[in-house]
Amino acid sequence: MNSLYANKIRLIMHLRRHGISDTNVLAAIERVPREEFVPDMFHDQAYEDRAIPIGLGQTISQPLVVATMSQALELNDRMKVLEIGTGSGYQAAILSRLCRRVYSMERHKPLLDIAEERFRRMNLRNITTLVGDGMKGWPIQAPFERIIVTAAAKGEAPRELLYQLSIGGIMVVPEGPDGTAQTLIKYTRVSDNDFTAQELLPVRFVPLLPNVASESMHMEPDLNKLLAWA
Ligand code: SAH
Repeated sequence: MNSLYANKIRLIMHLRRHGISDTNVLAAIERVPREEFVPDMFHDQAYEDRAIPIGLGQTISQPLVVATMSQALELNDRMKVLEIGTGSGYQAAILSRLCRRVYSMERHKPLLDIAEERFRRMNLRNITTLVGDGMKGWPIQAPFERIIVTAAAKGEAPRELLYQLSIGGIMVVPEGPDGTAQTLIKYTRVSDNDFTAQELLPVRFVPLLPNVASESMHMEPDLNKLLAWA
């Protein structure tokens, strides 16, 4: 048996032991090739339960966190989902198998270009992307039945995002300062102005930052490395 495949089976068992019981989520993790979303030098670690650098100081999230967030969204194939922080595109690819359409926003254009190329190659046609500041959401496409934020909000979750949820909609978002003491929160919009919040688990995400990133070789020495990986 090929060792990546063996590692994948081991990862699925690990996710089940850690509370992932949604069989659609487990099937999506089994089907989407995570090795295609990490730089070549990390291929052999693609099915370990850890975050991996993807360039420009960003990371592809840990599989248990991807699975926990996907499960918390309680998705079905009629839903329209907004993702903030496309990064490698892995979480979007998982969502694309669990809902009708994914709208995914990223503030680093070079990362989005690479993710889009992956979506094309894998023929994932229900993902629409946008370079933009996800803290403002995607008003023209709102409302969304679900929103997932894959970077940590420093204070509270951006209000603009909460108000792009449909009534009954769910948003999952990590909240807290950089690197430490962040908590994954699940919001439900119960009426026009009422939301409930539930703490899910402690997490570590890169920060949610305002505005579109201004990219240049001079300012971003990592870019050469990033492009070499692509
Ligand atoms: N979901 C990703 C993980 C991404 S890491 C994956 O599966 O690989 C978080 C990403 O959020 C980074 O790429 C970062 O650039 C992006 N990000 C941070 N703040 C943002 C914002 N305001 N708008 C859009 N993207 C943002």
